[in-house]
Amino acid sequence: MPNEQQVPSLVIRQVCDSIIDNLGAKSLRLLFAQSGLQRFYTGGDLPPADDTPSATVDELSHLFATAFRIFGDKGVKPILPTYDNAEGFFVEISSCPYCAGNQADHGVCYFPLGFYGEALRWATGATYPIDEVECIAAGGQVCRFRIGRAPEPS
Ligand SMILES: [Zn+2]
Repeated sequence: MPNEQQVPSLVIRQVCDSIIDNLGAKSLRLLFAQSGLQRFYTGGDLPPADDTPSATVDELSHLFATAFRIFGDKGVKPILPTYDNAEGFFVEISSCPYCAGNQADHGVCYFPLGFYGEALRWATGATYPIDEVECIAAGGQVCRFRIGRAPEPS
């Protein structure tokens, strides 16, 4: 099933900023051209850092898949704000647009949960366990997602 849900422009912008920081503006242009998503990066104008709806989840997954293909996983790793330890890989969103203004007693950021799962499945063909271990809505400092080190047995 195609996922037409739109991602806030801020998410694309964060990806763009970290690609420029780590791989340079030329790499970013190459990536958008190769993935057919040039409309988000034309004439050197980056997408706005706000919650304007932009690419769909499918398009963003495709962008990540293309990034893995062009840059390899060593090139992509610094792009995602991740760190890893024995427990797995961690992704942190410090000003999370998904739970802003919500309060809950558990993590509520279902969108990034699904998104990272899809992106990884696209990139690796395997399903990785993902959970939200800290959520701003539940009183956390950041929204933090843990991705298991090994794929789930299929
Ligand atoms: Zn959140």
